[in-house]
Amino acid sequence: MMTDKLPKGTFKPLAKIVGPVTLWMSGGWLLYPVLVEDIYVAIGETVDVEEVRLFSYIMVAVCIGVGLLLMAYGFTGQKINEAEFAIINPAFKCPYCSTELAHDAATCLKCNKRIPR
Ligand SMILES: [Zn+2]
Repeated sequence: MMTDKLPKGTFKPLAKIVGPVTLWMSGGWLLYPVLVEDIYVAIGETVDVEEVRLFSYIMVAVCIGVGLLLMAYGFTGQKINEAEFAIINPAFKCPYCSTELAHDAATCLKCNKRIPR
């Protein structure tokens, strides 16, 4: 059974992963001008290093900003928990025998039928 509204904190576990990864990516952007320079030197082309640097520093700033925001969201505030989820998705009845069941029940306690989700 799907709830109409996603429970608060649904994206917190995702933010906990994406946040640090985004921060880590800022390190990659910091190295980007060096890599670009090396590549252009290797293929014998010229490149506007200043422009590449400016672009990469903007990306570093964006990654740090977004990473910190995601981590602040992911690691602070209210976490999703059973009790909260139960309020949003309260007990429902078995579609076969109408026995009231817990929100996370996989099978009916009375008729033993699988509860469709
Ligand atoms: Zn039942």
